[in-house]
Amino acid sequence: MSRAQGMVMVLELDAPLPQGHALWKSLEDCGWWSQQVEASWATLVRVPLPQALSADELRAWQLPGVRRVFQQRDSFVLAGRAWQAFDTVLEAKGHRLGGGELQLIAGPCSVESRQQMLETAMAVAEAGAGWLRGGAYKPRTSPYQFQGLGDKGLDFLREAADAAGLAVISEVLDVRDLPRMRERCDVIQVGSRNAQNLPLLKELGRCGLPVLLKRGFGCTVEETVLAAEYVMSHGNPQVALCERGIRSFETATRFTFDVNALPWLKGHCHLPVVADPSHATGQAALVPAVAMAAVAAGADALMLEVHPSPSRSASDAEQALTLEAFARVAGRARALSLHLRQDAL
Ligand code: PEP
Ligand code: MN
Repeated sequence: MSRAQGMVMVLELDAPLPQGHALWKSLEDCGWWSQQVEASWATLVRVPLPQALSADELRAWQLPGVRRVFQQRDSFVLAGRAWQAFDTVLEAKGHRLGGGELQLIAGPCSVESRQQMLETAMAVAEAGAGWLRGGAYKPRTSPYQFQGLGDKGLDFLREAADAAGLAVISEVLDVRDLPRMRERCDVIQVGSRNAQNLPLLKELGRCGLPVLLKRGFGCTVEETVLAAEYVMSHGNPQVALCERGIRSFETATRFTFDVNALPWLKGHCHLPVVADPSHATGQAALVPAVAMAAVAAGADALMLEVHPSPSRSASDAEQALTLEAFARVAGRARALSLHLRQDAL
């Protein structure tokens, strides 16, 4: 883990530019390295290399146009708690992600039909989910497997979510699909295989929708947060992170759920943290136990794959919960979350 990158200065957005330029110029003359964040939602940030000055000394200078100075403790800036102490909460269609109450994101791996989506949406909403998931563009390991319904799938997803009062999360594979996705989705998911697709992450910084960023199965937690920094530093502060299992030497399960990642991310970052036990385990029978572990470890939300008839799933059939099994896990997970929150008071 790389640490202590130095100082961050947050400049007033409306600081007169000449003043800002003069300030930056004099800092650069002092040997500071700097970077301007594209974000229009925030102020500008400069990240100097570690050097002799302390944050307190810099504050004492009372530089014009400087709103805040703080010590950067990790290799990331915008996602860190030093940047923002309070939790970021994503909101869509009256549902929240983050901010205390456990949220449930549920739906099939792939959108397969209108009927499948309507039935699933009604059932998961009844069981307490606020978010409907489903892949319209599917990242499959083999090109000969079902690749998703594409645009038609987004229509089914939206219609079903609206009918059940849910918000929509779906995965983007290609920046060319973003205009269409923007019309149909509330949150754009970046899958594990694209966790470090930097041009895609930068584009999502400008997409105007919240982003759910899944951890790459070969990425460290720090690399995951740095991927979020790509989205945030290109203009989008609305990012959630998702632990979905990493590759280890273990072969008994599809991936290895990294429960450590949850409290680590919650401690270091202000972004909502989602847990996906479905892809982590790859087996429906293991999903409830790992889901409970995730809640106990502080996940803000669970993302669970659900299918009205799991054996008929076009993708990831082994890990799909029945609608009834989902209702049971949902009830237990919410009860545990409530219990833990009352305990903490
Ligand atoms: C998914 O959520 O459908 C998916 C493909 O997950 P991951 O990117 O985590 O493999
Ligand atoms: Mn899947």
